[in-house]
Amino acid sequence: MLKGKTALVTGSTSGIGLGIAKALAAQGANIVLNGFGDVEGPKAEIAALGVQVAYHGADMTKPAEIEAMVAFAKETFGSLDVLVNNAGIQHVARIENFPVERWDAVIAINLSSAFHATRAALPGMLAKNWGRIINVASVHGLVGSAEKSAYVAAKHGIVGLTKVTALENATSGVTCNAICPGWVLTPLVQKQVDAKAAALGITNEEATGLLLGEKEPSKQFTSTDELGALAVFFCSPAGNNVRGVAWNMDGGWVAQ
Ligand code: NAD
Repeated sequence: MLKGKTALVTGSTSGIGLGIAKALAAQGANIVLNGFGDVEGPKAEIAALGVQVAYHGADMTKPAEIEAMVAFAKETFGSLDVLVNNAGIQHVARIENFPVERWDAVIAINLSSAFHATRAALPGMLAKNWGRIINVASVHGLVGSAEKSAYVAAKHGIVGLTKVTALENATSGVTCNAICPGWVLTPLVQKQVDAKAAALGITNEEATGLLLGEKEPSKQFTSTDELGALAVFFCSPAGNNVRGVAWNMDGGWVAQ
């Protein structure tokens, strides 16, 4: 379905971004990976799906590097058709204890980077009258949780950015939608499980059960494959008129 198209997924060396990149590659899209840590492993996983894969190490806190990454995608594969704004970090603390530097980093990586990538990608998509922009928000784009002020603010912000991006391009072939996962067992969440286990002196399994039990009625993690399938749907012809939605995949979290 996406043969000959190019997808750039930010923060795709790990977790949800890698899952979405693999789902898009399975549909034939060439992939530009981004993110820190191990690069060769994720590159090999994508290449094994029979598509071309490139990597750009832009730091999502740096607008000039984000612009350079979008230009790199176009230069490497001829166009940029699918942009997945996924890179994200978390910091957990009450507001009065929240380090200012962590607030700035969460807002830069989880929100502002999507604006910078989107503004760089849109002209090329509009010229071809086809494009898909998918913002990985969170249930925290729809509801709040204590001790996650920067994350919840950034995720509510990216849901708003999604709506405006969709509206500004509503008569074109460029759509923009957000995915709002509940708990997904990635390194980002494993750190929160570990912190809970340490704080309460309980096992990893007990901490996982507590984490899910607090918020997620299904008591199940959403998988990165399931999120990848939703991204593929947004890219499909059936997603043509799906514009500006914030679609939760959260085991019932925000239905409560
Ligand atoms: P993860 O930690 O597994 O992956 C995060 C990715 O972002 C990594 O590739 C990392 O290298 C990259 N990254 C971090 N800082 C960066 C920077 N400055 N520049 C470039 N890349 C950077 O986390 P994840 O759980 O897969 O999270 C991915 C997205 O999904 C985030 O936006 C997160 O908020 C969102 N999300 C996650 C969950 C969950 O339960 N895991 C739930 C809802 C939303």
